[in-house]
Amino acid sequence: MRLKDQFPLLAGDPGLHYLDSGASSQVPGAVLDAVSRFETTQRANVHRGVHRLAEAATAAYEGARDDIARFLSAAREEIVFTSGTTAAINLVAHSFGDGLAAGDAIVISGLEHHSNIVPWQMLRDRRGLVLEALPVTEEGRIDLSQLDRVVTKRTRLIALAHCSNVTGAVVDLGRVVASAKAVGAAVLVDGAQRMPHGPLDVPGLGVDFYAFSGHKMYAPHGIGVLWGRRERLEAMPPFLGGGDMIRRVTLEKTEYAPPPVRFEAGTPNVSGAIGLGAACRWMGGLDWTEIVQEELRLTGCLLDGLARVPGVRVLGPLGLQQRLGVVSFALAGAHPHDVSQILDRHGVACRGGHHCAQPLMDRFDLAGTTRATIAPYNEDADIDALLVGLDEARRLLA
Ligand code: PMP
Repeated sequence: MRLKDQFPLLAGDPGLHYLDSGASSQVPGAVLDAVSRFETTQRANVHRGVHRLAEAATAAYEGARDDIARFLSAAREEIVFTSGTTAAINLVAHSFGDGLAAGDAIVISGLEHHSNIVPWQMLRDRRGLVLEALPVTEEGRIDLSQLDRVVTKRTRLIALAHCSNVTGAVVDLGRVVASAKAVGAAVLVDGAQRMPHGPLDVPGLGVDFYAFSGHKMYAPHGIGVLWGRRERLEAMPPFLGGGDMIRRVTLEKTEYAPPPVRFEAGTPNVSGAIGLGAACRWMGGLDWTEIVQEELRLTGCLLDGLARVPGVRVLGPLGLQQRLGVVSFALAGAHPHDVSQILDRHGVACRGGHHCAQPLMDRFDLAGTTRATIAPYNEDADIDALLVGLDEARRLLA
């Protein structure tokens, strides 16, 4: 059975060439079944009731936390459910960020998604911090040769994307961690574009925080995770206050629960968490060495095809080393929205625009790009359809 056949939406629409998984992936039947099972046989609130359904819902929710912890080779206490990468980064910007003082510095890079830029600018303005950015190389990578210049004794946190959502470049986290350790800074990784490509030993990376979203890794929307090293989470105050995150409340004061529930105020996205747990189990049953190899073979085919189209400029590494299947390109004289619209006529779903990375677009003097992202269910026919559609776009627009 083709992997694609496990995805009801793709199986039901054979003319669709879905190359927009970097925005949201499709969802396999195994995940849809897990969510449906919860909603039809176990639905109740969690951590509250003692009736049979409430206990089943709590067990399913906490079981999902175990599945995710296994996927990350982490402890369950280190898995905080959030609504996604954006919420996870904002949580750190508040809870960790409120421990910072005027003059402390945070380092990001010029290729970050807005969700790893704006929360730090807001924190900078709240607390009088300094925010600095590592530059981006011509190849579309974070320029780590500048670490020694940008990371200083004042640096308290380095926050970088593991894989760029525009160029597909994967950062060498070992170098970043070494640089952070040398000055006693923490490291936050935005893993939104990395997690869809297989299990990862997150504690083994040596970082302090790792954020990702379920909807990009075959799970429902509105669920994500902040992994935080135990000592870090234990030292952090809560971000949101409310039900579930407490040990004891009086009208005068509140004693907070330990992590992870300290950071999960209010009724969580229970079915989303169960869906994400199921996605981790589903992913855990696949051979990711083989899948990533196939994704990169398709990436190579796409890069080769793009190199043959006059007027196309690829924004990102042209080789296959230290990159994943995120491929952005600009067609001279054509707006990326128009390119995406013509591709859509060929059944090709690509993203066109600035990809929430305007500073990176400024760096390359572009308003936007067309982006194809390659997932395990993509096949040669998807790349062929994109290149045929692009040929028409070039004839009509360029
Ligand atoms: N970081 C990166 C690298 C992303 O690609 C995205 C999603 N486009 C995000 C952060 C934000 O993710 P979410 O919208 O799910 O919070």
